[in-house]
This record gives sequence, C-alpha cells and structure tokens, in this order.
Amino acid sequence: MPRPESWLRVTPAGLYCQPGDFYVDPTRPVARAVITHGHGDHARPGNDAVLATPETIAIMRARYGEAAGGLQPAGYGERVALGDVAVTLVPAGHVLGSAQAVIDYRGSRIVVSGDYKRRPDPTCAPFEPQRCDLFITEATFGLPVFRHPPDRHEIDRLLHSLRLYPERCQLVGVYALGKCQRVLALLRAAGYDEPVFLHGALIGLTELYRGLGIELGPVLPCTGVERDTFKGRIVLAPPAALADRWTRRLPDPVIALASGWMRVKQRAKARGVELPLVISDHADWAELTATIDDVGAQDIWVTHGREEALVHYATQQGRNARALALTGFDEEEE
Ligand SMILES: [Zn+2]
Ligand SMILES: [Zn+2]
Repeated sequence: MPRPESWLRVTPAGLYCQPGDFYVDPTRPVARAVITHGHGDHARPGNDAVLATPETIAIMRARYGEAAGGLQPAGYGERVALGDVAVTLVPAGHVLGSAQAVIDYRGSRIVVSGDYKRRPDPTCAPFEPQRCDLFITEATFGLPVFRHPPDRHEIDRLLHSLRLYPERCQLVGVYALGKCQRVLALLRAAGYDEPVFLHGALIGLTELYRGLGIELGPVLPCTGVERDTFKGRIVLAPPAALADRWTRRLPDPVIALASGWMRVKQRAKARGVELPLVISDHADWAELTATIDDVGAQDIWVTHGREEALVHYATQQGRNARALALTGFDEEEE
C-alpha cells in the first residue's frame, strides 16, 4: 500500500494528486481540478476541467459563467475514475453542495475534507465521516476556546431583540453563500414566518438555493421599500454593507453579525456589532477533535487556520500529524 504522502503533495497551486493528475481546490488555474465547495477561496475560475457536485457546479456557473471551466458533475457517493485513482464526493455539511473528496489509490485512502461542520444544517446534507489513511482537515476554529453554542440559542437571541425593539430593525450581516440561507432556514425552523428583507447582493444565491429545492420562506428585496416598513423586521446584508451608507435607509438598525468569529468579543466590537450571533459554518474545537477520532486516520494534515493545537491533539492520540503550509484561503468568508 503506497504511503499517502507519496501520491498527494503540496504545490504552489495547492494539493496535487499525482496518480490522478488533478488538484483539489487549486489556488491558480490548472488543467484538472476537484472542487470541494463554492466559496470563492476554494472554487476559483479558469480551470480547464472541474469535477464537483451538481450544486457546487450550479454555484460556480452562477458566479463565473463561462470562466467556470469545463464542469463535470458527480453526485454524492458516485465513484469517478481520474487517471489511476477513484474520487468519490461525500457530504461535508458546510454549505449546499459541499463535499469531501475521498481519493482511493491501490488500497490507500485519502480524504480532503475541504471546509466542514458536524452540527445539523437544514440547507445541506450532513457530514459523513469516512475511515481513511490520511485525513486533511481545516482548523479555522482550531482552538479549545472555540465552542459554538447551539444555533437555536443564537436565533432565539435575534428573535428576542426583534420583540424588544419594535421601532428598530434587525440588520444581520451574513455571507452570501451558505450563511444567508442557513439563517433564513433557522429562522423558519424557530417558527418565524414573516418575510425577511434581503440586500441585493444576497438575492442571486438565495434564489439558486430555492431553485435547488431548499425551503427558505418568504423573502423580499430592500429596493424601493419605505423606511418605516423595516420597523420590527429582519434585514439580511453582506457583512461589508453593515458599515456602509446603504444602512441609512434603515430605521435605527440593531447591527448583528452571524459568524463563528463573534465568539471573539473584540472582533464584534471592532465591527460595531451590537448583537453578535455565533453561527458558524465551520467545525468548532469539539467537532474537529471528534472528527479526528471518527475517521481513524493514522496521518492527519491540518490546514486553513489555527493548526498547532489540533496537530498537538492528534499527536496525543497517537497519530502522525502535521501542519500544511497551504496558502490562499480566506478565513473570513464563512
Ligand atoms: Zn468554505
Ligand atoms: Zn475555506
């Protein structure tokens, strides 16, 4: 059985699988890419050929048009031969269409998990742990201090603020892909069925989710709406719009932001966030360590965040663990 590091390596363009002749989430254009999910730091334009889930392909097509490259869909669990390896995409639980790339070669198995989380998300299929020889994990929240509270707890805080301030509006910063739709779905699951107003930059991907069968309830664009109409309402906008003159159309908004980073009080304060909502699409410390236990891999490579603590944890569990020096990934867009 070949050692995993003999057939997968880190290159300037990203992780390269030699016997399959492809890159996973390359940071520069390549001949063949396997893309784990649609976030801009993982799915970039300009590759000649792309293998991804049908949902990720729909997202890439919407974002990049022709520049998305030659797109080959592979549904979850479908085994695809690439060169001398077989690639199977399985759910990662991160955003709609997000996948772990399971790569099999001569009896050896590598899993590149991309970004993932373990808690239920009504907008995407749940993470499925795969037994493997080498597991490559993100570590965005790879410190023991990061414990995300239950989503319902955070949504209840938003709904409480809504009842408390009927003359104001709740302006919630959400990333356009994943977080926006998840917050909508969580609001619906909590029984909130009023229309939610969306900043223009959020409408395209929200429509795409609905087109793919994800129920998100009634949404309305903010354009042309009278200021008073927003009183006692929830408005979703990209985080960048929170400090923008765009907000002047809103009546005394309560500024909220839905992000795992809201655990860090200074971050919330620096962004002028009155209501920090700890809702993350990345695994917290408990989810990361549970996953390392679940996959049973002898080798663990850690990337994409705070690697040291997770490397330490895996080493303590008797695994060979190391930090990968992969560049080009953006920890903010989550
Ligand atoms: Zn992501
Ligand atoms: Zn990422």
